[in-house]
Amino acid sequence: MNCPNCKGKDIGKIGNQHYYCWNCFIELSVQNGVFQVHEVESDGSLSSLNDLFSEEERRLQW
Ligand SMILES: [Zn+2]
Repeated sequence: MNCPNCKGKDIGKIGNQHYYCWNCFIELSVQNGVFQVHEVESDGSLSSLNDLFSEEERRLQW
């Protein structure tokens, strides 16, 4: 699968339905076949990047 942000394939699994893109440093979780995209802030909190992508772009493509 490809990162919806950078289209890279350097995605590591960090948990159940939970992934991390080592290329652009965003966190991805999967809900109902659609990526939920989060950015990890410097203070460790998560901010949603879902607004930057259409649902079509966030749909899982294996
Ligand atoms: Zn990426």
